[in-house]
Amino acid sequence: SVQPETPQRVLLKLSGEVFGGGKIGLDPDVVRGIAEQIAVATGAGVQIAVVVGGGNFFRGAELQERGMDRTRADYMGMLGTVMNCLALQDFLEKEGIDTRVQTAITMGQVAEPYIPRRAMRHLEKGRVVIFGAGAGMPFFSTDTVSAQRALEIKCDMVLYAKNGVDGVYTADPKKDPTATKLDTVTFQEALSQNLRIVDAAAFSLCMDNELPMRVFGMEGAGNIAQALQGEKIGTLVSA
Ligand code: UDP
Repeated sequence: SVQPETPQRVLLKLSGEVFGGGKIGLDPDVVRGIAEQIAVATGAGVQIAVVVGGGNFFRGAELQERGMDRTRADYMGMLGTVMNCLALQDFLEKEGIDTRVQTAITMGQVAEPYIPRRAMRHLEKGRVVIFGAGAGMPFFSTDTVSAQRALEIKCDMVLYAKNGVDGVYTADPKKDPTATKLDTVTFQEALSQNLRIVDAAAFSLCMDNELPMRVFGMEGAGNIAQALQGEKIGTLVSA
């Protein structure tokens, strides 16, 4: 079989939900497993930046529904992502991988501030860079931040590791039994067919800047390592 081309530099978005292993909080076993897969890909020479969500702690919109002020709740959501970043950093370092966490909200004791040029330098040195605290701004999502960071630090692709779905389907597979998984889809097709892939802001950033994205499920053993190394799993969305 033809060896897939190994991408040079990728941004991996991991949903926070996964870090909790289905519960609120952190499941270290899950994080360890993810770190092991990232280690495989760094070993193959892929430059990896990671954005971690925070859905295993707080989602601003959900706290708002329960009566909290949205912006304060969003900041809580962002702080949750930082805990995920530190856990991932810990297990990556146990794998022997140099790692830097950069946060969009300054917290010098635990992480570097987000400095794009420094982040790129870390990547060139083989370090994994983990971006925390989202964009540092309420009303944004970590999906959107992933596209923005990928563009700013010049990644070849953004990889969205999803929980509970293994790619883009022609319709919602939970509702429509005739839905089929797409191997590839263009931005235009996704738009005109109203396929829900990532949130609208993330989608338009990728489309406007022709940044390819791969959407795949993180359930399968080794899926993250495969996607990082350019294997054609899930769905490729591109221009
Ligand atoms: N968040 C935010 N601005 C950002 C990124 C995240 O306000 O730039 C907040 C928002 O409240 C969000 C929460 O952080 O609900 C957790 O992030 P997200 O929902 O994207 O995590 P995921 O669903 O991927 O685990």
